[in-house]
Amino acid sequence: MELAELVSRRPYPAAGLLLGLTRRCPLRCAHCSTGSDLFAREEPDAGQLERFVGSFNEENRPDVVMLTGGEPLLLPALAERLSVLAHRAGSRTALLSGMFFARSGNTRPDGNRPGSHRGRGDGGTGRTGRGGKAIPPAILRAIRSVDHFSASLDVHHEREVPRADVFRALHRIRDEGVAVSFHLTGTGASDPYLADITRAVEKEFGGRVPCLVNEVRPFGRAASWARPARIGPDPAVASPCSMAAWPVVAFDGRVLACCNQDTVDQRPVPAHLDLGHIGVDDWATVRHRALESPVLRMLRAVGPAHLAARYGSGPPAGSYCDGCRALGGDEAAAAGALAVAGGAAGALLDLTAAVRGAREGAQGVVRRHGCAEYAPLVVAGGAPAPETDAPDVR
Ligand code: SF4
Ligand code: SF4
Repeated sequence: MELAELVSRRPYPAAGLLLGLTRRCPLRCAHCSTGSDLFAREEPDAGQLERFVGSFNEENRPDVVMLTGGEPLLLPALAERLSVLAHRAGSRTALLSGMFFARSGNTRPDGNRPGSHRGRGDGGTGRTGRGGKAIPPAILRAIRSVDHFSASLDVHHEREVPRADVFRALHRIRDEGVAVSFHLTGTGASDPYLADITRAVEKEFGGRVPCLVNEVRPFGRAASWARPARIGPDPAVASPCSMAAWPVVAFDGRVLACCNQDTVDQRPVPAHLDLGHIGVDDWATVRHRALESPVLRMLRAVGPAHLAARYGSGPPAGSYCDGCRALGGDEAAAAGALAVAGGAAGALLDLTAAVRGAREGAQGVVRRHGCAEYAPLVVAGGAPAPETDAPDVR
């Protein structure tokens, strides 16, 4: 499964599911909004995760399951089991990693000496004759089990894992036949880092590896496939939120309708964004709540600001997402949403919004929710990065 196919499904409600396997991560990226480190203990119960994914069936399942964190490859056996379970129902899987396992150097993040996986032949070791560090067998099995693998890269990641190590590991993973991509983050279209890294990826992989280019946002890894829309100058004008389309399993097993990390971490969850808990709910229940809620339909069709201004207690204060979270206690907004987006008419409104959101394909999704100038790179062989006068920062 290529990156463009995955991203193009983003506007469709419940077409995807984001699973945060753990908040732990061996890296210490300065911009990490999940607050991840090696000692962050929060993670969903593995048995509950497996039961939840095991509740998919061929008629009722997400098309795509994204395994994220923290660092999901700290739990490689669990990632592999979840991928196998999802495949049984016909879902496809993708995994986003910070690439800690690719880091060369004298000490591994778990404190062990590097090289302990070496010297076992190439069966399952991840060594493919390209030199550099081998991919540990359990991690390689997890990677082989998914349909798409994405590596995070940005200024902060590169301070933790050298770019050359990440490139070497991506070559090995491609050699395994797994579709790969980069998730690149910068400060915007004029960021010299983005110009440099996109040129480097193009040169290293000959345009065969797509990139999702995003702008640094106060959101975490689960949200990294795209950011919410920006609020316009007039809240009465519709500004839909595609980020209310794919359910997110948080680190405590709670399921939310939204991937904004502040919202994912907020307890209690705003009522209109709460889809249940993997300890008690199955996929069919979560999907039903995600699809049938009039407020969620309105968020996806017109956005929170328009809903609040038109039907609620007035224009929202604060950011686009602050206004959305405040809708949890807004009975007038809930009543307005029910009147407009309840029943079959609401389902049609929802579908129309999704089709509109997806009509320009993956590039359109990135233009709205990522770094628009680099949207063509979401497709392998997309147009080269914009020309800038920026110096090479490496
Ligand atoms: S940004 Fe990602 S790779 Fe970096 S510390 Fe956070 S979870 Fe880990
Ligand atoms: S808080 Fe609301 S507006 Fe913000 S991303 Fe989540 S669902 Fe969308």
